[in-house]
Amino acid sequence: MNAQEIRSAYLEFFASRGHAVIERAPLVLREDPTTLFTGAGMQPLMPYLLGVREHDAGPLLVDSQPCVRAQDIDEVGDRRHTTFFEMLGNWSLGSADVEQQVRWFVEFLAHVGVDLERLYVTCFRGAPEHGIPRDDDAARAWVTVLAEHGIAAPLVDVGSRADGDRDGMRGGRVLLYDAEENWWSRGGGLDGTPVGDPCGPDSEVFYDLGPEHHDPSTGAPHPASEGGQFVEIGNQVFMRYRRTSEGFVLLDEPSIDFGGGLERIAAAALATPDVFDVSLLRPLVDRLETLSGRVYEDDPRPFRVIADHVRAATFLAADGVRPGNKAHGYVLRRLVRRAVVHALHLGLDDRFADELVSVVAEAYGDTYPGLIAQREELGTVLRDEESRFRRTVHRGLRELEKLQGATVTGGDLFVLADTWGFPVELSVDEVRRRDMALATDWQEEYALHRERQRARSRAAATSRE
Ligand code: ATP
Ligand code: MG
Ligand code: MG
Ligand code: MG
Repeated sequence: MNAQEIRSAYLEFFASRGHAVIERAPLVLREDPTTLFTGAGMQPLMPYLLGVREHDAGPLLVDSQPCVRAQDIDEVGDRRHTTFFEMLGNWSLGSADVEQQVRWFVEFLAHVGVDLERLYVTCFRGAPEHGIPRDDDAARAWVTVLAEHGIAAPLVDVGSRADGDRDGMRGGRVLLYDAEENWWSRGGGLDGTPVGDPCGPDSEVFYDLGPEHHDPSTGAPHPASEGGQFVEIGNQVFMRYRRTSEGFVLLDEPSIDFGGGLERIAAAALATPDVFDVSLLRPLVDRLETLSGRVYEDDPRPFRVIADHVRAATFLAADGVRPGNKAHGYVLRRLVRRAVVHALHLGLDDRFADELVSVVAEAYGDTYPGLIAQREELGTVLRDEESRFRRTVHRGLRELEKLQGATVTGGDLFVLADTWGFPVELSVDEVRRRDMALATDWQEEYALHRERQRARSRAAATSRE
């Protein structure tokens, strides 16, 4: 199955088990000022999960929610993070049959071709100091369900991640970790749980790429090390507690939230370590290969950044965001500009936005017909921003040319960035490419200029108050 088929299979699978398929939420949630973009399937469902409201569609829900995590932008370039992705979600509101939920998820993974032998799961080991016992519901459910598929799942208490780094997996498949890894609340960890809020243990489900993908710099091979070997494909949250001023109490009406990355599950189904191999991203990589004449496998990073950023920018534009200097618009602008910078690295001198927007529209047209209908307009939005930035880059290159023969300093680079909008990474690349001399202390000097500039803006802002 390709990723599009896996998305449909997921919705059908849960629909035929009593879940109502709900509409996806827009990427910009007007009524939620806490984040810029919808970053998880649970986010638009928060009022229902918190028990503030009952959902019209009933207690069992399923969807595929487009997400943007601008906070992951620096991770893009690796094999598993993208700023835009779809989160497959399912919910059980007001009641929680944990074993059933685990069984359905595992059945679904088997149905789409994921090798269950490669699954590893983390569960909460408990917090006696808060009177919270170990999450036996989840741990037992995973051991039982995996056994139903003929997979032995030894339970191992790893403790904290630091302990795990010393001892690795210790032969386990269901691994117990502390609240640092396996506690969900709106405030972050256990101690950060806001009083009054529902919260609870969570489980993360990992796909094992195999020991050849183990990255020694991340310690022993165990899921929570976030190393190269294990990819997180899903996350269950068991909202079973409420924090009161007296401590954590059990909820009468617990809920289950599940979210799993479509691209990562599709990659696991293909047994590939690279989400850019899946059918929602690979067509972009292929088109970039054609446009640039370069080969993805030789240097995948720029391909990944361009593919991800153009896809994210297309979806943002489709949801009404336009390039700007603030908030949502700034993220869109930054995505397009970073794509242009990486296009230069690929030697792509011609505009690419229109072509790639069409590729995105084709890959998503079946589920998001709006992308096809708006294709022209979206192409124009991205193309205008691309063209504007290419002009900036050309101006910057002309200014840089004037420095030929001299040693380029941090001050020069700051002027290029500040006056001409020429990004510093780009000018440093150019300086090196042209074999121009670069002052050894350019970074310190650049930082100093930037700091002074910030202090000036702060002073200006204060004097206006
Ligand atoms: P990771 O630890 O890999 O960064 P996470 O714990 O931050 O993932 P969650 O917030 O639990 O992710 O989101 C649920 C699921 O969404 C993850 O299990 C993963 O499958 C998927 N996911 C999260 N972030 C990304 C991303 N940047 N790109 C692709 N998929 C993602
Ligand atoms: Mg993350
Ligand atoms: Mg994680
Ligand atoms: Mg997670």
